[in-house]
Amino acid sequence: MPQASERSQASGTVPSPVHHPAQPPPASVDTARLVQRLVAAGMQGISAVHLTRNRSTLVSFRAGTLRLHAGFLRAPDDVVRALAVFVSGRGAARAAARRTIVAHHLPPDAAPRPPRAARVHPDDHVMAARLQQEHARLNAERFGGALRSIRVSVSRRMKTRLGHYAPARSHPAGAEIAISRRHIRRHGWREAFDTLLHEMVHQWQEETGHPIDHGPAFRRKAKDVGTTPRAKRLLR
Ligand SMILES: [Zn+2]
Repeated sequence: MPQASERSQASGTVPSPVHHPAQPPPASVDTARLVQRLVAAGMQGISAVHLTRNRSTLVSFRAGTLRLHAGFLRAPDDVVRALAVFVSGRGAARAAARRTIVAHHLPPDAAPRPPRAARVHPDDHVMAARLQQEHARLNAERFGGALRSIRVSVSRRMKTRLGHYAPARSHPAGAEIAISRRHIRRHGWREAFDTLLHEMVHQWQEETGHPIDHGPAFRRKAKDVGTTPRAKRLLR
């Protein structure tokens, strides 16, 4: 979550908690109704609205132009109000609006495909089963069993990242953790389990309503459950 834009009334951005490749914008969309609703909800200072399919940024605005993911076209009233407050509000109300926007479930046709990185190669079932077992063990031992039981898979597609948490809020099939197969083979199970624990802190963030990031709450929880609070973990 960007910090600087919180203080500025001139521009702001709500990045998506998950990163997916951009898709081309919709060919033809009627934004007039949405603009009417936003203005009725108190949005000011916006003269142009562009709908996008860019899933890495849900909302951004600058110099009177609002860029908005097309998945908000038929958003319920409370989400439209949140968008208006995000653009024109300030302080705590704006922070609450940001949370409402991030929590909004985009309609299925706008939802991302499940990450291909999370598919399990037939040969990797044994590895995946071992990770799944460790997820249950770490959940009981480090989180007091508070986390949901979610799918843990092995990814052959992750080239540089060690692991990934796919949040439930953007994956209709449910949250999932993927661990790089290359990472397991190159660094061993001990390291891979530490990566799993790191991703479980992200799972904890989502399930307890925190933003999914590497901020102070992440670092506190990471320390608490006993993993190194490294923000970036890349394969060498
Ligand atoms: Zn992380």
